Amino acid sequence: MSAYFDHNATTRIDDGVLDAMMPFLRDEYGNASSRHDAGTRARKALNVAREQVAALVNVRPSQVVFVSGGTEANNMFVKGMASYLKPSQIAVSAIEHPCVMKPAAGLVRSGWELRKIKVDANGVLDLADVDAALREPTGLVSVMLANNETGVLQPVAEVAQRARAANAWMHTDAVQVAGKLPADFEALGVHAMTLSAHKIYGPKGAGALVVDKRLPIKPLIDGGGHENGLRSGTENVPAIVGFGAASELALHRRHALAAHTAQLRDLVETGLVELGATLFGAGAPRIPNTTYFAFGNIDGETLVIELNKAGFAVASGSACSSTSTDPSATLLAMGVDADLARGAVRLSLGVDNTMRQADEFLTAVATVVDRLRRLTAVAV
Ligand code: PLP
Repeated sequence: MSAYFDHNATTRIDDGVLDAMMPFLRDEYGNASSRHDAGTRARKALNVAREQVAALVNVRPSQVVFVSGGTEANNMFVKGMASYLKPSQIAVSAIEHPCVMKPAAGLVRSGWELRKIKVDANGVLDLADVDAALREPTGLVSVMLANNETGVLQPVAEVAQRARAANAWMHTDAVQVAGKLPADFEALGVHAMTLSAHKIYGPKGAGALVVDKRLPIKPLIDGGGHENGLRSGTENVPAIVGFGAASELALHRRHALAAHTAQLRDLVETGLVELGATLFGAGAPRIPNTTYFAFGNIDGETLVIELNKAGFAVASGSACSSTSTDPSATLLAMGVDADLARGAVRLSLGVDNTMRQADEFLTAVATVVDRLRRLTAVAV
């Protein structure tokens, strides 16, 4: 009895993806910039991967800039754009991942205004607050396509329309949507989009900033001029090949995976509510694999540790802030009481999870919660 339920943190590399990468980890070690045959083979492999990633989000291959992951892509948009623009306002949702929020906050030192746009009780961006924000001169807007904790989808197309009307550059962090639901760059109307390979059954260490070719972006890393001058450094060919293969896989199985995880998610949520849990964001459209919940008076960290002992890997708050005991900024932005927010646990499902695991999880939660409640009662 055990299960990995932390797919929003990272996913197991798919066997086919690993097979596609292996030659480039062993025999095909050429540098993609070299003019000999080994270099040419590496360059061709990068080109194929660029086409595969482009197909996943409906852009031309030339719009894909390979970087080391989602964190770098988000930093690249915020800092790389800000260094070309005259300081004005950067508007971001109040629930962005720290790798958008921190660079955005850092711009304040160079004269930018940071505006955090409100979300409602379900964690959905408030479009009236977007309109209010855009009444001020705004250079940059960044709104994630789905939140990594709640899984709640954001009205990015509506924001992009408004941002364009206000002459602002619009970015979306689509890390948690790619591979789960469509993330169509053109349909969303954005100027830039972030992707990460390890969230879609690919390897760690590869991601992309997908860009509108007119984007005035300054590279974070200068050097030999790789990636059209936007990201220097010898390309991580095996990881990028894996990213390409994972993107192709994601495109083909997205619908089936969404149906599979939604079925398990619904089963788990019904069981959790019966056990007395509060669900966060469940009243809004969400990615199909995520459930975020809390039991009143039970600490989320403790629940995660106890469930881990029982064999279940889940997360408390967001994976990236799991060393901190502060309540989740996302839940606080949704107006959730800080004590209840401290109890938050996220379960994120993936391709290998089964009905049986979901049932066993519910049994484990019932046992652990009952034990913790009795301990709390004794302590009081
Ligand atoms: N953006 C979101 C919404 C995420 O969930 C994450 C990872 O947790 C990232 C960005 C960072 O991506 P990476 O791990 O590829 O740097």
